[in-house]
Amino acid sequence: MEKKSLKPKNIFVSEEETIVVWSDVQTSFEKNFGTEIYQSWLKNITLIKEFNDYLILGVPTRFFRDWIVSRYLDKMLSQLKTFKNSINRVEFKILEDHKSTNVNDSFKIDELNKVSEIKDSLMNYNRLNPNLNFDNFISGSSNQIALTSSKKICEQISRYNPLYIYGGVGLGKTHLLNAIGIELEKQTNVMFISAERFMYHFIKSIKKNDMVNFKDFFRKSSVFIIDDIQFIRGKEGLQEEFFHTFNSLIDKSAQIIISADRAPMKLDRVQERIKSRLAGGLVVDIDIPDLELKTKIIKKRLEDIQNQFKETSNISEEVINFIANESKTNIRELIGVLNRVVTFSRIHKKDLTISDCKNILKDVFNQAKIITVDKIQNTVSNYFNIPLTEMLSQRRSRPLARPRQVAMYLAKKMTTRSLPEIGRRFANRDHTTVIHAVKTITRLSEKDDEMKKNINQIKSLLLEE
Ligand code: ADP
Ligand code: MG
Repeated sequence: MEKKSLKPKNIFVSEEETIVVWSDVQTSFEKNFGTEIYQSWLKNITLIKEFNDYLILGVPTRFFRDWIVSRYLDKMLSQLKTFKNSINRVEFKILEDHKSTNVNDSFKIDELNKVSEIKDSLMNYNRLNPNLNFDNFISGSSNQIALTSSKKICEQISRYNPLYIYGGVGLGKTHLLNAIGIELEKQTNVMFISAERFMYHFIKSIKKNDMVNFKDFFRKSSVFIIDDIQFIRGKEGLQEEFFHTFNSLIDKSAQIIISADRAPMKLDRVQERIKSRLAGGLVVDIDIPDLELKTKIIKKRLEDIQNQFKETSNISEEVINFIANESKTNIRELIGVLNRVVTFSRIHKKDLTISDCKNILKDVFNQAKIITVDKIQNTVSNYFNIPLTEMLSQRRSRPLARPRQVAMYLAKKMTTRSLPEIGRRFANRDHTTVIHAVKTITRLSEKDDEMKKNINQIKSLLLEE
């Protein structure tokens, strides 16, 4: 009876059972988890309903719940058992998720004087790299549209908003974003941050009860550039915050520029409303460079190196061609390969032959990237955002059949497996099915730009790891 009087208000407790006194539980959480964890996370949990063998606890957001579940749940449960032994599980109810997406609503904000602190720590990650500018970004057919659009943004802010640039790894997205930042910094205040850093500061601010400054800081800029937005996939709390940052920036006509490794609508585990926002301005892609662009980039680099070291290059046309042909994945790799060749030739003061190059680059090119049928299947199902089991199933609907055929096609092209072997790996299909798939996709990728692009992007995803 005594205990009952301690029952906190607004809590519904089912009849006859022992009553958990939540304030006692919280005291024990603080003691056992330490003040920091308690203050940042556990303090914000409320008891919503108690049953004999489980509790329903309230948490402010989904992100919050995931964080707690992944880190503290086991220990929390054993603590709870000391209060009521019959408890064997906990369920969470997300209190604010739909109503208010403002994480800080449920936090006590009592320290408003931390602006300078957050500013300083954020500033450290807001540095633009002066070497990644428009002058040294070389254009080719694979990046022409992305480049022109980026330059247009610099001429007239918020004409296309947001500008969304996507493409595989090492194709120049960060370079372009940087170039835009450098250009616009001359006129206005620019915020440049990777989505991962954004997340880092977001979590840090939650922990410090410092969301007000976080919001203020990010919503102040006139140009907001965020790199690798795919990082927010599956991170609910972060998406909420990003969505609000995005909206308030658009509301005040700030320019937003975003990069990602895939098209907006292909961002799985990202809220629909965010995807449609991302796709709502100008969406452009960067493709894998063709031979011409690769050659141009190599030549420009050689020129720079010559100027820098004041010596003539010993790299012949033939070697340039060899490197451009062999380096298939992306521009970052191309530059890495070139650097090795150049370094070797400078050290040995030697005109390199193709066979020298082959030797120098043995481990780069021969290190045959091991691509398995499994890996192809996973990558393709991810790319098209369909479950692997569905992709391998017997269902014939187009949204499943096409990706399935793409996966078979890539398995044939990128592994040494035979047709019957590939068939077997696709839920025991016949080799004639594989032949049909290869033919269909070959034909489509010749005449259909969308298909060509898809294939190229999947290939680069497969090769990049
Ligand atoms: P991403 O962000 O798409 O992964 P980066 O922008 O980091 O790729 O580019 C990888 C490397 O290739 C960088 O060193 C970048 O300067 C260089 N690079 C990419 N595209 C070009 C280009 N068109 N001209 C010159 N250098 C480029
Ligand atoms: Mg990048």
